[in-house]
Amino acid sequence: MSTCFIVATPIGNLADLSPRAADVLRSASVVYCEDTRVTRRLLQHVGAHTRLRSFNDHNASARIPEALADLSRGDIAYASDAGTPGLNDPGQRLVAAARAAGHAVVPLPGPHAAAAALSVAGFFSDRYVHLGFLPRGASQILRAVEQADALAAAVLAYEAPSRLARTLAALAARWPDRAALVARELTKLHEETAAGPLADLARRFAGSVRGEVVLALAPVARGREAAPAGDWHDELQRLRAAGVSPTRAVAEVARRFGVRRAEAYAAWRALRPP
Ligand code: SAM
Repeated sequence: MSTCFIVATPIGNLADLSPRAADVLRSASVVYCEDTRVTRRLLQHVGAHTRLRSFNDHNASARIPEALADLSRGDIAYASDAGTPGLNDPGQRLVAAARAAGHAVVPLPGPHAAAAALSVAGFFSDRYVHLGFLPRGASQILRAVEQADALAAAVLAYEAPSRLARTLAALAARWPDRAALVARELTKLHEETAAGPLADLARRFAGSVRGEVVLALAPVARGREAAPAGDWHDELQRLRAAGVSPTRAVAEVARRFGVRRAEAYAAWRALRPP
């Protein structure tokens, strides 16, 4: 039995390709990929001369027998155009077929646009929901976010640059103070991460925008208003300076920012005296 390696590739900066991923791209008998033109540039970057074959949602049925025949002779790799295969990208049909044929399927983890955006959002939650590409209409977008909000999780979504202004306007009309992040062109020359209340982001991105975009929304505590933009440590300090009791301050911060009480209480105890 052979191994089908599922290789995450850079979302912009080629230096983000892991050395292990480069080794696999060089040593696999064939690299199946979403678009051979895109992956050829990556192979050139790492000095790989491995054979390339396209494998995407349009030709998967025809390519699966070929990929399984390749696997019967040795290890193969799969890469999508950018980021992690199978996550809003092709790849899962090859994974399922390789697994069903009894081969090992091994992930080579790496870049993922949604995770990169969330990592710099500054939200205080270890729960998140990724909606993938947002639906087009404002009411469908609001419904999708509201459904995710039922889980009291941070919300991540991909949005086309041409629709960002309209989407932010719709979200800001519903949750003007909700903390959010727009992450644009991550790891690329024109990288931009803008954080703040949705109303501010809607104003900032009201014009036309270029490039690739991830949108992140702070979690809404179940049945409560959205977490405001800002640092809950600052809020604790402010409440302490205002003479609010620890119990009330911790409860307030836990409620408004979705922070665990134990964590807020530990931070309270570490605060400088007023
Ligand atoms: N599988 C990929 C991943 O793991 O990142 C996602 C592929 S999905 C087809 C492409 C979308 O991801 C883009 O439309 C954009 O919303 C987001 N994206 C990809 N690269 C990005 C980047 N460098 N900066 C911001 N968003 C990016």
